[in-house]
Amino acid sequence: MSLQEIHSRIAAACAKAGRDPASVTLIAVSKVQPNERVSAVLEQGHRCFGENRVQEAAGKWPDFRAKYDGINLHLIGPLQTNKVKHALDLFDTIHTLDREKLARKLATEAQARGTCPPLFIQVNTGEEAQKAGVPPTAVDGFVADCRTMDLPLRGLMCIPPVDEEPALHFALLAKIAARNGLSGLSMGMSSDFEAAIALGATHIRVGSAIFGARVPVSPTK
Ligand SMILES: *Cc1c(COP(=O)(O)O)cnc(C)c1O
Repeated sequence: MSLQEIHSRIAAACAKAGRDPASVTLIAVSKVQPNERVSAVLEQGHRCFGENRVQEAAGKWPDFRAKYDGINLHLIGPLQTNKVKHALDLFDTIHTLDREKLARKLATEAQARGTCPPLFIQVNTGEEAQKAGVPPTAVDGFVADCRTMDLPLRGLMCIPPVDEEPALHFALLAKIAARNGLSGLSMGMSSDFEAAIALGATHIRVGSAIFGARVPVSPTK
């Protein structure tokens, strides 16, 4: 699907929801995509991208930044505390703040640098054992902790369980954000971004619908 088609679908979903399309940021998720596909999207003028691994981002984005102005890069995958410095060097926004130890590490680094990127707290709305994120019942407390550390919270992020109706999870995330006075909602992917926009998404993370299917990584022999 072309970038233009995605933008018209976003515009249609916003019209239906009575929202301004400018209130929705399209994050093009470029993880695992060949550089030619990423370049093609950059050539069309798009500048906002998402990656889920620090290492992978480090391998391609410094070169793209040297070539294109105004790139805005979002970390949407898990962050280990020993990679915080590296992540802060690379990313403009982090969507996966999910635990106290990471919050403390980010706060320490932010102090040292005098700056910190906007942060989203990842919420495990489906309470899945294998998935990262703060459990819904623990979010209020965690938000309060992050605020005492002066962390710049932008909003909440979720990845709904694959086998459940995503709208239920988007609605839950919106409710938790509202009661915590947070305006950012990072939710919605290729298969469900219109539903996410209807429920207030401010940041949608769309990969395969823009770039095509991710090229499978072949096993190393
Ligand atoms: C890969 C990924 C996406 C994009 O998924 P698509 O289905 O390809 O749009 C969005 N969010 C996160 C956290 C991801 O890891």
